[in-house]
Amino acid sequence: MIKDIIKTIDDYARTQPSKVVYDVQGVQHTYADLKAYSDALAAHLDTLDLPAKAPIIVFGGQTFEMIATFLGVVKSGRAYIPIDTHSPNERLTMINEIAQPAAAIAVVDLPTGVGTTPVITPDQLMTIFNTPVDYQADHAAEGDDDYYIIFTSGTTGKPKGVEISHANLLSYVNWMLGDDFGLPKQPNSLSQPPYSFDLSVMDLYPTLAMGGTLYALPKAVTDDFKQLFAALPTLPINVWVSTPSFMDICLLEPKFDAEHLPSLTHFLFCGEELTHKTAATLKQRFPDARIFNTYGPTETCVAVTQVEITTAALAKFDRLPIGYAKADTKMMVVDEAGKEVANGTEGELIISGPSVSKGYLHNPEKTAKAFFTLDGQRAYHSGDIGTMDADGLFRYRGRVDFQIKMNGYRIELEEVDHFLGSQQHIKQAVAVPKYNKEHKVTQMIAYVVPKPNDFESDFALTKAIKKDLQGMMMEYMIPQRFVYKESLPLTPNGKIDVKSIIKEVNPE
Ligand code: AMP
Repeated sequence: MIKDIIKTIDDYARTQPSKVVYDVQGVQHTYADLKAYSDALAAHLDTLDLPAKAPIIVFGGQTFEMIATFLGVVKSGRAYIPIDTHSPNERLTMINEIAQPAAAIAVVDLPTGVGTTPVITPDQLMTIFNTPVDYQADHAAEGDDDYYIIFTSGTTGKPKGVEISHANLLSYVNWMLGDDFGLPKQPNSLSQPPYSFDLSVMDLYPTLAMGGTLYALPKAVTDDFKQLFAALPTLPINVWVSTPSFMDICLLEPKFDAEHLPSLTHFLFCGEELTHKTAATLKQRFPDARIFNTYGPTETCVAVTQVEITTAALAKFDRLPIGYAKADTKMMVVDEAGKEVANGTEGELIISGPSVSKGYLHNPEKTAKAFFTLDGQRAYHSGDIGTMDADGLFRYRGRVDFQIKMNGYRIELEEVDHFLGSQQHIKQAVAVPKYNKEHKVTQMIAYVVPKPNDFESDFALTKAIKKDLQGMMMEYMIPQRFVYKESLPLTPNGKIDVKSIIKEVNPE
C-alpha cells in the first residue's frame, strides 16, 4: 500500500537510479533521469509567478519527456492536463478556454496559439531539464488536490475536464498493486494508449509505483500494421494494457502468441466491451497468461471493477461480465427513481467511493447532473446500464444515453451532431452507431439532409464534408459513412427521431 505517488516514484531514483523507467523503441531513460527532469521542471515552475493551483496543459506524444513533465507539474503542486499531439487545433483552443490554465508546456510545438496562456516551448523545456537542481518536493499535489485533468467528449461540442485528485489516483493505484491482479513485482508494461486517455493511467502509475519499466508504442507504429507487427515480438513486456479493439488488431498477426512473446503473463483490458471472441482467441494464443476484464469511466479513475477471464469463465458466459467492485468502492444498480433494483434486474450503474472525481472543471452544471453524495462518499451516475448477480458480479448491458464506444474511443453522439450541424453543406444531421453481433460499434453513420449544392455526386459531397470536419473534431469522431436524405424522421414533439434511425441501421 503506497501513501504518496510522487514520493514512491522518487524513492526509486535513490534505490534503483539506473533502472530503466521508459523505453521507446530502444531509447531509454532511467529513474534517476525521471527525478532529475521532473525536479528541474518543478523548480522552474516554482520560480514563475503563476496563479495558485491553476492546472497546466501538457501537449505532446508518447515520450519520456511527457511523463517527466507530468511529474514536474505535480511536484509544483498543480494538476496537468494531457493533450495528445493528434488533437485538432479546435480541441486545444477549447480546452485552453475551459481550463484557464496557469501555463501550457509544449513538449512538442503547439500547432496553434493559446491566447494569453504563458507557454514553455520545447527548447526551453529541454534547457530546463538539462539544468540540474537540488529540489525538495515538499508541496506536491496531495489529498484532494487535483493530480490530473482528462478531457472527455461532451454533448454540447465542448469537452468536459474530469478532475482526478491525488486521493482518487491513490485509491486506484493501491487496488492495482493488491491481490486482485497479482501483477509482477516490477512489471515491464506496454504503454500504448495516448496519455490524453485515462486508460494510459492503467499502465503509467501502477508501473511507476512498482518501480517497473514502461515500453511505449507510439501512434506512428500502432497505425501501421507492418511496423506494429514487427515491433510486438521485440517487446520484453509481461503486462499488457489496451482496449479490446487494439488487441483485435494485434491478433491479426498469427505470430502474436506465447511462443513469440513468452514473458507475457498479464493482459488487462478496459474502456469497452471485451467480447467473448477476443478473450477466447487470446486465451488460445496465450494459454498460461491471465486475462482481466476491467470496467470504469474516466470520472471514477480508470477502472473500478475487475474479473479474471479464465477458461471456466469463457465456458460459463456468452457475454463476459465486467467484474466485482474494488474493495473500497460501492457499486449498485438503480432504477429511474434512484432505488436499488433486485439482483439480475437491469438499471443504471452507480459508483461511489474514494476514486470518484470531484467533478468537471469549471462546469458546475454538468458536475451537479452526474455527481452526488451517497452515504458520505462521492458518487457518480455512470449512464451505463447493467445488472448485479447475487455474488456481486456486474454485467454491462449498454447505455441510458447516446454515448458510444468505437475502437475504444468514448464518443457522445450529440457532440458529433453538433459538429455536423455546424458544417457548411449540412442543413440537418444525426450520427448513429452500427453494431455487430457482439454489441460492438463497427461504424458511425451520419444521416444528413444536405443544403442545396453543386457537387456532382454524393461521394464528392462526402469528401468535402469530411475534409471540413477534420479541422474541427477528433479524427475518430468523424462518421465513416454518410447517408443523404431529403428529410429525417421526427418524434411527436418535433425532434429528430434518433432511436428510429438507430433501429433502421440495426434491424433485429
Ligand atoms: P472512458 O471514460 O473513456 O473510460 O469510458 C467509460 C465508458 O466505457 C463506460 O462508462 C462504459 O460505457 C464503457 N466501458 C468501460 N469499460 C468497459 C467494459 N469492460 N465493458 C463494457 N463497457 C465498458
